[in-house]
Amino acid sequence: MRELKIGERIPIEAGGEAVVSRELGRGGQGIVYLVRYNGREYALKWYFISRIKNPEAFRNNLRKNIEDGAPEGGKQFIWPLFLTETKKNGAFGYLMRLAPSGYESFTDIYNGYRWEKPRVKGQPARKIKVKFASLDVMLTAAINIVKAFRALHLAGKSYQDLNDGGFFIDTKTGDVLVCDCDNVAADGDNFGIGGMPGFMAPEVVRGIAKPDVLTDRYSLAVVLFKLFFRGDPLEGSKVLQCVVMTEENDLIHYGKDPVFIYDPSNASNRPVNGVHDNVIKLWKIYPDFIREAFTLSFTYGIQEPNARIIEKSWIQMLIQLKLDIIHCSCGKTAFSSSFEKTGEHTLRCRNCGSTIYTMGVKDYELPLNLGAKLYKCLTTKNSDDFESVTGMVIENRLKKGLFGIKNMSDDVWKAKFPDNSIREVAPGKGVPIWTGLEIDFGDNLIAKILL
Ligand SMILES: [Zn+2]
Repeated sequence: MRELKIGERIPIEAGGEAVVSRELGRGGQGIVYLVRYNGREYALKWYFISRIKNPEAFRNNLRKNIEDGAPEGGKQFIWPLFLTETKKNGAFGYLMRLAPSGYESFTDIYNGYRWEKPRVKGQPARKIKVKFASLDVMLTAAINIVKAFRALHLAGKSYQDLNDGGFFIDTKTGDVLVCDCDNVAADGDNFGIGGMPGFMAPEVVRGIAKPDVLTDRYSLAVVLFKLFFRGDPLEGSKVLQCVVMTEENDLIHYGKDPVFIYDPSNASNRPVNGVHDNVIKLWKIYPDFIREAFTLSFTYGIQEPNARIIEKSWIQMLIQLKLDIIHCSCGKTAFSSSFEKTGEHTLRCRNCGSTIYTMGVKDYELPLNLGAKLYKCLTTKNSDDFESVTGMVIENRLKKGLFGIKNMSDDVWKAKFPDNSIREVAPGKGVPIWTGLEIDFGDNLIAKILL
């Protein structure tokens, strides 16, 4: 393939020409250039056309995706926008918007650092730490990743090439951008992409299935596992024993005989001290329901694609996990599992001894530590908005040591006291945290304070 030249004019199918400014990067499928088109800057992905199995079908699929537009308004996707005309040699590409600055690649987040090119030639590259601002932000990012895939799947499409190179994340806010959307196809269609080793579902590795929504779900579990545990779910002692990772070994460990590193009924592939330290350390600190979700994904879910966890369930679990983080007023921040259980629904901080009550609402259980937030998904029916704050645990200004929940929504809540009296809680007002107290958020959505 001939690469494009700086200043080269590329005709666009919708009319006009894009002018090549410079190269932005290259991968296995092609080169990405910065271009100007109709007075604006875009990224142009230009394909190594010989590496595409059926260019005409691939191009038609791209056109279909452009016509359909990105799911749910596209905020979370770097979606194809315009096709170029095809050159005489058959080569073509497509335009997409540029990724905004401030986003880090999932790969760098996974590694924990990236290399920054020196400003002056000859100086060494700088190693820059890449990490989330907080545990909460990491979970926000995880939920946003799952939400993007739910939107894609609800639109009847599958991504097919889920891997760590496909996401960019704002590590301060948890906003997620899904890139490389050119392999997205209507579920059931496939235009040659298999996926990336380590992320592909075993049936795709074995060549007995093509990527689809169900294989996307496998890859999604891998992405979440890597995000949380900083390791590979299938790489343990069994894999390490093979000194060279040949393609044949890949086929065995990721296709024919994949064994989850924490498979409860098969200990042949456990993580190895000194090699898989992240996973060994992090696996312990997550609550049981998260460990169970990954265990299901990489045991039964390996063999049975229909048993894989659907996006809606992941979102529910990840919201619960986010709610499960306790920011104790003494400064300790951790999942509730590292607090001492002093009653069925009561916890105590091992650091400062504070007692933390919990509240049950919908299927969630929420620790009511000082500063704990209620989100719209908890106080509104049929909502999975886990970002809009509708309430917060505060301390009474006049009576220190008395805690309450402040109504930060626009709705009037009703508090039912243990003596059955009912009091309205207008926006801006609060209810005390008392045993057995119930809050009706409206629509018969009732929360109960548990002890
Ligand atoms: Zn504490």
